[in-house]
Amino acid sequence: MNAATSEMAVQAAYLIASGLFVLALMWMSSPQTARRGVLAGEIGMVLAVVGTLLHFDVVNYDLILIAMLVGTAIGVPMAYLMPMTAIPQRTAISHAFGALAVGLIGAAEYFKLAPGQEAGSFVMWALMLEMLLGFLTCTASVIAFAKLQEIMPTRPIMFAGQRPLNVLVFAGALVTGGMLIFTPLSSQMFPVFIALALLFGVLLVIPIGGADMPTVIALLNSYAGLAAAAMGFALDNKLLIIVGALDGTSGFILAMIMCKAMNRSFSNVLFGGFGQLAAGPAAGVDERPVRSMSGEEAAPMLEMAGSVVIIPGYGMAVAQAQHRVAELYERLEEKGVDVKFAIHPVAGRMPGHMNVLLAEADVPYDKLIELEDINPDMPQTDVALIIGANDTVNTAARDDPGSAIAGMPIIEADKARTVMIIKRGMSAGFAGIDNPIYFNENTQMLFGDAKKMSEHLVKELQELA
Ligand code: NAP
Repeated sequence: MNAATSEMAVQAAYLIASGLFVLALMWMSSPQTARRGVLAGEIGMVLAVVGTLLHFDVVNYDLILIAMLVGTAIGVPMAYLMPMTAIPQRTAISHAFGALAVGLIGAAEYFKLAPGQEAGSFVMWALMLEMLLGFLTCTASVIAFAKLQEIMPTRPIMFAGQRPLNVLVFAGALVTGGMLIFTPLSSQMFPVFIALALLFGVLLVIPIGGADMPTVIALLNSYAGLAAAAMGFALDNKLLIIVGALDGTSGFILAMIMCKAMNRSFSNVLFGGFGQLAAGPAAGVDERPVRSMSGEEAAPMLEMAGSVVIIPGYGMAVAQAQHRVAELYERLEEKGVDVKFAIHPVAGRMPGHMNVLLAEADVPYDKLIELEDINPDMPQTDVALIIGANDTVNTAARDDPGSAIAGMPIIEADKARTVMIIKRGMSAGFAGIDNPIYFNENTQMLFGDAKKMSEHLVKELQELA
């Protein structure tokens, strides 16, 4: 293949890949089309890699092949071995590797391109931005991974003079980066610039608590996208510019959606409370009595109900109870009960967590109702069946202005005629605060593991037949 043909093949592959990435994002916005979206993204990525390998400049495939084999050997087991509940930290570690690659390519390109560049040229600006974002995203993502995996303390790490230090380190990175842009051969500044960018990534994330980490990961996703777009400008690669821009904006929008669903301002997540919620009042401090019932008692009540709204949360995910919950839904529907699922946008530990699990268990998509659409139905609902959810139904968020989660929108389960709550004990949720709903007169606790209790209810309903 000569240079012109190879260039045409590369551009054609890039064009189709870009279109597929746009379609992937569009399709992934709905559970009905999400699988198609993932497939489109995968095909797009294969085309992008193949297109790049066809590039005329690539003369030696040996090292590339070794890198691909090593990457596959790590990536495939990771995909199979890491549980769904660990997706946020898996995403964080992927960002760390991606961002490191972007930063290192920027460094290599700097040494290749700098001698021929004019001071302050566009390419030098793009390279600096690429390296700054790439290296800081790398260390920030490693810290986010370590916090989510609980390798390091999830609580915010604060110390005196932290903010001035952060500003100083960031300003230092900008100044040294600027010196590299305007005096392209001042390579003695290069390691200082990289070290400051890496250090800033660490400083950026250590004061943020574990509770806010998924939002931070969405934001780091955005930074990684912007770094890739900057790399696209530096290398004159249109695919990288398009994909980087898509990644940058979608990550940012996702972070905003998560902040809105938790009623947190963006700056509050990044500079404010820093996830202090996780260190709130201890769980189970409230020793007021609660009403509890057994599965045997609950099953006939569910059977006789005209309408049941199931509210799943993190407990359903950790118990891997989605298939039993889907069976419970089927048994109740068979008995003529109108069953719906209420989905809170931040239920679980990642955006769309409940939708993914329930889709895996073949619950029809039209049964999954978003918070704002289900709340008006709650006062007419016979039974609200909460399965491993806590913060997302915590009435303190609505009724107690002093609560750490005040203002967070909740699913108003307490307004149903009867509230049944499946959980193992009186432990708090992710925010670490007590939930007044447990003590309401219309609440019945069904103590037990989400999977075992759902199984038990299915069995009881079968026996009632
Ligand atoms: P949650 O508030 O974290 O509560 C989960 C409850 O499940 C716990 O109280 C726990 O109580 C119970 N549980 C744990 N294991 C269980 C098991 N095996 N069987 C039955 N119950 C079990 O959950 P949520 O209502 O889904 O709220 C999600 C929280 O995560 C929110 O605070 C949200 O802001 C935060 N968050 C979510 C995202 C996201 O993207 N989804 C992002 C950032 C933050 P017991 O131990 O007593 O059983």
